[in-house]
Amino acid sequence: MKPGATDEQIDHVIARIKEAGCNTHVSRGQELTIIGAIGDETKVEGLNWRATPGVERAERVTKPWKIASLQMHPKPSVIDVAGVKIGGGNFTVMAGPCTVEDKKMLFDSAGAVKKAGAKILRGGAFKPRTSPYDFMGLGEEGLKLLQAAGREFGMPTVTEVRTLAHVEVACRYCDMLQIGARNMQNYDLLTEVGKARKPVLLKRGFAAQIKELLLAAEYILSGGNTQVVLCERGMRTFETATRFTFDVSAIPVLKEQTHLPVVFDPSHPAGKAALVPPLARAGVAAGADGMIVEVHCAPEEARCDGDQAMQPGAFEALMKDCAKIFEIVKGNGR
Ligand code: PEP
Ligand code: MN
Repeated sequence: MKPGATDEQIDHVIARIKEAGCNTHVSRGQELTIIGAIGDETKVEGLNWRATPGVERAERVTKPWKIASLQMHPKPSVIDVAGVKIGGGNFTVMAGPCTVEDKKMLFDSAGAVKKAGAKILRGGAFKPRTSPYDFMGLGEEGLKLLQAAGREFGMPTVTEVRTLAHVEVACRYCDMLQIGARNMQNYDLLTEVGKARKPVLLKRGFAAQIKELLLAAEYILSGGNTQVVLCERGMRTFETATRFTFDVSAIPVLKEQTHLPVVFDPSHPAGKAALVPPLARAGVAAGADGMIVEVHCAPEEARCDGDQAMQPGAFEALMKDCAKIFEIVKGNGR
């Protein structure tokens, strides 16, 4: 719309788009209003938009991720996780153990990450394991512990959901739902979290292209849940020296394409704790809005991903490095 377009003009355009059989997505800034038509573009392309009062121009959003695109929503989104903000000039750290194993270990780890400056507590209760014989988490019992630890240390919580049924249970106990790499293209699950009213941490599949990640996000957004954070967590390549290959370039590429906050996970690509800090420092320098890190107070006893779990002391040192790097890059095209 033209700067200063009136509410009547905006409503008129919305009505025309709806009459033509499309849905609308309205982004109202202080000066500019952008109205997106969602659905079959051919239905609205034929209308004479240039002659419609208040319209500046009509253009095809060429990207298929319409709601996620920066074009539709030029201002970066800030996602609120029970009072903690991701995006909008913050570097937000989510940390905790891979999996909730027992109360003592969770509370010790949660206290340590809180002290180091993490804002959101992570912990899996429904683990996707490569082998069916491995520990798969404590289920609802694990979520209760996670909620208790979050309350004790004043941190919102994030946990992975693998099935449609997990969504309802996780929503009862946690503040943010994580879709894991293995489920990035589980479209039924994406649709289900699209109906939930909790923020979603969407991890990139390890064989997924960036455009596929954006389209996966689009499933959630088009379902009505606008609270999505994207997460780069490493790809499967020919290299075996690391667990996955950290695609640091995904961070600035995503930033060019979408208004959604972009975070990264240095733990899963690293595969071992000593490699986590250099990957994390690179991710901050690349312009991410935050990171999710696995920290365990006793990694040698961890029942899942112990090799890559950072000790609290090393994590605290990393947090200091990240804060310094973020000071340098913040505001730099972000
Ligand atoms: C995790 O966060 O523990 C996890 C399983 O991550 P990913 O889905 O990225 O492998
Ligand atoms: Mn893990």
